[in-house]
Amino acid sequence: MAFDYDLFVIGGGSGGVRAARVAAATGAKVALAEEYRMGGTCVIRGCVPKKLMVFASGYSEMFDDARAYGWDVTEGSFDWPKFRGHLHKELDRLEGIYRKLLDGSGVAIFDARAALKDPHTVVLNDGREVSAKHILVATGGRPVMPDISGAELGITSNDIFNLDDMPRSILIIGGGYIASEFAGILNGLGVKVTQFYRGAQILRGFDGEARGLIAEGMREKGVDLHLGTNIVEMRAATDADMSDAMGTPMEGGKPATVASGGSGSGIWVKASNGIERVFDQVMFATGRAANTDGMGLEQAGVEVGRRGEIVVDEYSQTKVPSVYAIGDVTNRVQLTPVAIREGMAFVETVFKGNPTPVDHDLIPSAVFTQPEFGTIGLSEEDAREVEPVEIYCSSFKPMNHAFAGRSDRVMMKLVVSKATRKVLGCHIVADHAGEMIQLAGIAVKMGATKEDFDRTVAVHPTVAEELVTMKEPVRTA
Ligand code: NDP
Repeated sequence: MAFDYDLFVIGGGSGGVRAARVAAATGAKVALAEEYRMGGTCVIRGCVPKKLMVFASGYSEMFDDARAYGWDVTEGSFDWPKFRGHLHKELDRLEGIYRKLLDGSGVAIFDARAALKDPHTVVLNDGREVSAKHILVATGGRPVMPDISGAELGITSNDIFNLDDMPRSILIIGGGYIASEFAGILNGLGVKVTQFYRGAQILRGFDGEARGLIAEGMREKGVDLHLGTNIVEMRAATDADMSDAMGTPMEGGKPATVASGGSGSGIWVKASNGIERVFDQVMFATGRAANTDGMGLEQAGVEVGRRGEIVVDEYSQTKVPSVYAIGDVTNRVQLTPVAIREGMAFVETVFKGNPTPVDHDLIPSAVFTQPEFGTIGLSEEDAREVEPVEIYCSSFKPMNHAFAGRSDRVMMKLVVSKATRKVLGCHIVADHAGEMIQLAGIAVKMGATKEDFDRTVAVHPTVAEELVTMKEPVRTA
């Protein structure tokens, strides 16, 4: 049977674009449909604008540091519209690059929403039908909000880059990557940030000691973090709420609430611990769901899991042999570089005749909280469940912070197998921890032992040298 294309990719995010380009490079006839903007979550409303906001937010602390280092600087104020304009210009530029790369690879672009009609046919929202030998679904995910009264008044990370004004106060709900990163970003930009997390400590699943230090650092920098607390109700604030709010002190003696734009423009919130407050904005960072609604998946025979994710095997193949799925829509590991790898492995398997399973083991990652976190492998808690381990850990004030009179500490931690001496986990809380873990991650992925780390000469004076100079375990378990 003759198909219009060898491959039809649905979704122009990092995973879909990479798969389309690499498949086209093998000589395959490839098309890609994207309903919104090329680049997907990472480029348009995720990693890239988030990281630029991390950079922007870091300057407030740098003004203080600069003074400590002898510079005569006067702290200016942050101009959100100016930054936002620059940010969106940059995103437009990056989107243009994505389009150019696809064009240059000979991939046909459909600026349309696509859904499956059957295992080899895609139907576009303008009614056109296109057939393909293989279909790759790479439609990503979207933020989800809890089902509470008034939730529609809140925003998500999708909205944060387009706000007309920076709020003066914000309540962030959640304790995951997005909630904790934006708490630091907005705090650095001068917003009064309150964060509610329903659990005992933010960043569930990561190393406990690292989580504790990050939470402590965030609080020291000014984030009003409430653990074991959730939102139960919210509504538009009334004049009475606003005047009540102005008189209620918060912990630490800071003003209770700040609401912008005069009476009635704030959001009144009731928390599970009984606290009632008014905030300028409420942001939900309560997880993400796969974009599988209205995609015709079940009708085409593709299995969709309990959380809406597409169920795939280790080759990213669905139950329908001609249909594959990669990236966040499969809810395996929701990280851009993982989606890209899944896309490359798909092309290797399907277009290069070299079946390649995706390796999801030992993935390094960074959480751009302030302080920053870099991590790979098992947390101390998880490792102890698996085998006897030695824990090497060092926590100290780095020289640049100490000189500037800052109290923040950094942490370097290695989780080492007693039996094999292999480093099972490496966890870093420090400035540039993301950069450090990329490099330490190579050693861990290679199976380096503690003694391999020790054989490596320290680079002095750096923070990272602690990774190779920790002599005695702080505990065994
Ligand atoms: P996460 O799953 O990391 O966090 C969701 C948070 O919301 C958790 O703290 C969860 O609590 C809480 N939550 C869930 N439901 C509710 C509810 N009904 N009420 C209150 N709280 C709730 O999701 P994110 O949205 O932060 O991020 C999604 C994914 O995106 C991440 O898993 C990550 O893979 C990726 N990402 C990666 C980044 C990076 O690499 N730096 C940056 C941003 C995102 P609980 O823990 O109790 O379940």
